[in-house]
Amino acid sequence: MQENEAFEIVRRSFRNRRLPHAYVVAGAPRGAGGAFARRVCALLLCERGPDEAPCGACGACARVERGAHPDVLSLEPEKKSRIIPIDAMRGTFLPWAVEKSFDGGWKIGILLFADRLKAEAANALLKTLEEPPEDTLFLLVTDRPEELLPTILSRCQRIDLSAGRIPPAEPWRTRVAEALAEHSAASQLRVLATAMRLHALFEEMKGLAEDAVREDLRAAEAADPTGFAAPDKDTFDAMARTKEKELRLSVYVALQDWYRDLLVLSSLPAGAPEPPLFFPEFRDALAERARRVPPRLALRYVDFAQEIQSHIEDRFMNDVFVFSHWLTWMH
Ligand SMILES: [Zn+2]
Repeated sequence: MQENEAFEIVRRSFRNRRLPHAYVVAGAPRGAGGAFARRVCALLLCERGPDEAPCGACGACARVERGAHPDVLSLEPEKKSRIIPIDAMRGTFLPWAVEKSFDGGWKIGILLFADRLKAEAANALLKTLEEPPEDTLFLLVTDRPEELLPTILSRCQRIDLSAGRIPPAEPWRTRVAEALAEHSAASQLRVLATAMRLHALFEEMKGLAEDAVREDLRAAEAADPTGFAAPDKDTFDAMARTKEKELRLSVYVALQDWYRDLLVLSSLPAGAPEPPLFFPEFRDALAERARRVPPRLALRYVDFAQEIQSHIEDRFMNDVFVFSHWLTWMH
């Protein structure tokens, strides 16, 4: 995703008061990722309104730029251990996150190199993400998002800044796009058909997740035959469910990317050069839809796609039910 496009997505959520509690910013912490995080801080704290922010000229913008704003706290790995230490997380970062902000507005907690968050610190953060403090945004900046715990990933929206990013799990993406390209909300049966196609992907993932866990265990046993202890059934199931959740993410990312493409095409002024799409191979199907879907609606579909993820993953609702519900409104 282009940086500016990503920033507009955040700005829109901010303006509509629909900011998530946390973003994973996939980009170099000392490069594009870190810069993006500062830009988001300035957006939320700038003294101008959300349309003009960040103005780059007000006191708040200047303090953010200098790294001296009291409502921004940044945590990064210790030099020596190269991990984000639990005492800094528990002793400073999280207590700060639940306090009132200095300026009465937003607070932003930044974790640079969030992949260096190890078990204890990650779990402490997870607890906070499960009951997030108000008006606080967490930015987890990392160039290795795949190393974050799936439980943390599932509580964050993801922003991918790597320009030529390799889409995760390509075969799933294509199958999601195929289902959406053929989707029609013309009748309940057609809607259900699309929902069942997406559900079939989840079912397949279930089997694959179990295979992957078995594979991991075999490798662990081979590496250390004497120290290896086979997990009991509950532990095995929990490991498989975690893996499964990880796989499902690629379906949500594909859904969101599809509707972003639709938004791009539906809001493109006549004659304007076309920006790169996530699904160039489905351009015709997307363009045909874009002619029927006004930008205002396409924008809502992007939000709906996020709702789908949050209903299934955070509220544990039945996926067929959730897909059919939202896809009734999505043309
Ligand atoms: Zn400003």
